[in-house]
Amino acid sequence: MNGEKTARTRLDEVRARLDRAASAAGRPPADVLLLAVGKTFAAEAIRALAEAGQNAFGENYLQEALAKQQALADLALEWHFIGPIQSNKTRPIAESFDWVHTVDREKIAARLSAQRPAGLPPLQVCIEVNVDDEASKHGCSPADAPALALAVAALPGLTLRGLMAIPAPGPTPADSAPAFARLAALADSIRGQLPASQAACFDTLSMGMSADLEVAIGAGATIVRVGTALFGQRSQAATN
Ligand SMILES: *Cc1c(COP(=O)(O)O)cnc(C)c1O
Repeated sequence: MNGEKTARTRLDEVRARLDRAASAAGRPPADVLLLAVGKTFAAEAIRALAEAGQNAFGENYLQEALAKQQALADLALEWHFIGPIQSNKTRPIAESFDWVHTVDREKIAARLSAQRPAGLPPLQVCIEVNVDDEASKHGCSPADAPALALAVAALPGLTLRGLMAIPAPGPTPADSAPAFARLAALADSIRGQLPASQAACFDTLSMGMSADLEVAIGAGATIVRVGTALFGQRSQAATN
């Protein structure tokens, strides 16, 4: 069982999956960032993974994330916000994270830009796309993504890095492949519409999770967001 494995063992296993998938896709493994998604897990679980060599961590819930950042302030970790963003919560996100993957409207982007502290580098952001056009999902529609991208790329406190998606879950990991391919194609199209200096930074596809990271890497993912395979099963009540 996952729970009996050490953090180092789980990290080694996920890294091996990532390396194999990159090799199979003819891509250097270093082109894919492993983001460890720690939602619902305690700061000590993150510390154990950090001590095993993991540096980039993703969190979905602001209060939970801020408490963990405080408990882990002695470590130089990279923090990514990957949860839904309410407009009254943008300031602490702008102040406390390196990346935000879930920008899906201009109002949120403008607030994050204005509230990014001057002493920090620009916030690195991805636009979340509702790639399967699911009614219940967050993310902008694929049709709205190019205009939103142009607007976000022009904001001084942000660097637009790419697109993020969470495809509708299917019966097998391979079912995510068409959605991943659509996100990659949309990113190519947007890159072609951005001014050259902004197109050069637009290099990120945040897609793929524990079950389908291989499929995502095959489709061009540059960040895979992995929770369960690194930390174990989340309790039912906490999943969403
Ligand atoms: C929870 C979560 C993940 C990780 O999911 P796993 O299946 O546990 O790997 C990735 N991305 C987002 C946005 C999440 O909320």
